Amino acid sequence: MELNARIYVAGHRGMVGAALVRRLKQAGYFNLITRSSQELDLRDQGAVEDFFSLENPEYVLLAAAKVGGILANNTYRADFLYDNLMIQSNVLRESQRRGVKKLLFLGSSCIYPKMAPQPIKEDYLLTGPLEPTNEPYAIAKIAGLKLCEAYREQYDCNFITAMPTNLYGPGDNYHPQNSHVLPALLRRFAEAQALGHPRVVVWGTGTPRREFLHVDDLADACLHLMLHYNEVAPVNIGTGRDISIQELAELVTELTGYLGETVFDFSHPDGTPRKLLDVSRLHALGWQHSIGLREGIEAVLQSEDWRRATSAS
Ligand code: GDP
Repeated sequence: MELNARIYVAGHRGMVGAALVRRLKQAGYFNLITRSSQELDLRDQGAVEDFFSLENPEYVLLAAAKVGGILANNTYRADFLYDNLMIQSNVLRESQRRGVKKLLFLGSSCIYPKMAPQPIKEDYLLTGPLEPTNEPYAIAKIAGLKLCEAYREQYDCNFITAMPTNLYGPGDNYHPQNSHVLPALLRRFAEAQALGHPRVVVWGTGTPRREFLHVDDLADACLHLMLHYNEVAPVNIGTGRDISIQELAELVTELTGYLGETVFDFSHPDGTPRKLLDVSRLHALGWQHSIGLREGIEAVLQSEDWRRATSAS
């Protein structure tokens, strides 16, 4: 990928897309192409065709998706399936038709079977039933992965796929209901600390285990794959370490300085019991994460982005 390559980062206003833009700029790429969802609705096939014929990107990083936490996924089931199928189908098809040199598609660790053995290897895909709360999103992402594979087989496209674990960092969504667990807890515990609330509620039993990766690490891994990886097989991107939701709540309690009580609300679903990625393929490709969870959360709590996101609400 030459430094003057025309690189389209789809979804640059999202947490992942914004991190990709930062990382690419830092590495010296200066011909980045972006569009907000107001400027270009990626679900609209005609609009995507017009955009590709106007901009002719040489490389595509597909980080545009409808995303959310367990409640949003489970509530807006049709939107999660439809929007994601449309976005990825349009971008992948146009990338094939216009001869894009290389494309990276981002999946998710939730595409693996609910009861997959741990840590989860890339080969476990489609070996068992999915977690029901995010099945629509997972089905869309699996379809995207298969479409990349099929374009590679039928048209020889260099489309690669990566499966990030749970992400956090600048640009995260701090919505009290629709966000993922880490930003949700940061906000809830920080507010309780600031306002002196005596109790904080955490959803579920606290026993599910999750792996968390800072989005700047993800962006760095994506660039690494764009530069060094050209195979059909998907690549998991994570830290290879996980913690329970209860341990996460304890860490967030400590880092926000909250002094009250924490209660678990069993009426909320736990979702997948454990989702730890096997990252040996990624490590064999010469990449490892560098931002630990404690350090990553501390950086979030000191960031301008966090102050802006939480003071606006
Ligand atoms: P998941 O990884 O797809 O299940 O998505 P989430 O990040 O939304 O949830 C991870 C786990 O954290 C689930 O077991 C949730 O029940 C639990 N959890 C605890 N408190 C919260 C919260 O306030 N928001 C969210 N989204 N999840 C929470």
